[in-house]
Amino acid sequence: MQPIYDFTGKVALVTGASRGIGLATAKAFAESGASVVLADRDEATLAAAVAQLTAAGHTAIAVPCDVAVEAQAQALVERAVATFGRLDMAYNNAGILGPWGPVTDETEAGFDDVHAVNLKGIWACMKHELIQMEKQGGGAIVNCSSLGGLVGLPNRAAYHSSKHGVLGLTKCAALDVATKNIRVNAVCPGTIDTPMGDGIDEAMLKEIMREQSIGRLGRAEEIAAAVLWLCSDGASLVLGVGLPVDGGFTVH
Ligand code: NAP
Repeated sequence: MQPIYDFTGKVALVTGASRGIGLATAKAFAESGASVVLADRDEATLAAAVAQLTAAGHTAIAVPCDVAVEAQAQALVERAVATFGRLDMAYNNAGILGPWGPVTDETEAGFDDVHAVNLKGIWACMKHELIQMEKQGGGAIVNCSSLGGLVGLPNRAAYHSSKHGVLGLTKCAALDVATKNIRVNAVCPGTIDTPMGDGIDEAMLKEIMREQSIGRLGRAEEIAAAVLWLCSDGASLVLGVGLPVDGGFTVH
């Protein structure tokens, strides 16, 4: 992706940054001149992702973090600030799909796991990012929801519940800080070609493509482009939205 923005001198943080949409967004921030903090729970894959960025001449650090643990989310933000002095932009991206099936087959443990990462993880990261942004007097945050935050579909109640929750968190937090030069928004990706989708079989993919009107999977870079726009001054009047980036999935 060609850099469109000039984020030179700014600091960006991305969670779930080892691969997929998170890595594409970390790269896009770096290519736009930002210093980037990449967070993920697997140290080895995270180190490989950061090595890609630094080999290309960008400034980036790896911070291992399980976003579902508030103390780790707090330590992540503290490490970002200790290293780069501030935090201007954050993309809270880490998420898991969990098992698919009717709600009657879902387990308490599965429900808790999905909500711990997808909902509590966003809350914990966003809370500590906002504490820092309030101190420094500004910033922009984008949370990762999904088409699953906007519509219901069979066989994925826990995942869609967590992604609907992300939009609730986003709207409330956006209003908490609306007058503080901080904007909080969310993106709602459609079905994107990333490792998360590897478990989707041929029949299910066909069904998804019938709904994703553009007729193809999305690319991780297309979500990154939306995140960077929401973080940019071009979106200065935009707050509390859940922006569909879904090839028309939720239009009909
Ligand atoms: P992905 O390829 O599976 O990447 C997700 C990354 O998040 C992985 O590196 C994963 O690490 C990390 N992660 C998971 N739990 C974590 C935790 N507790 N703490 C820190 N990192 C954690 O997924 P993706 O497709 O890029 O998805 C990124 C986001 O977009 C997710 O929130 C997802 O729900 C959302 N989304 C994706 C799609 C899609 O079609 N791909 C559609 C709508 C929304 P591990 O290897 O340790 O799990």
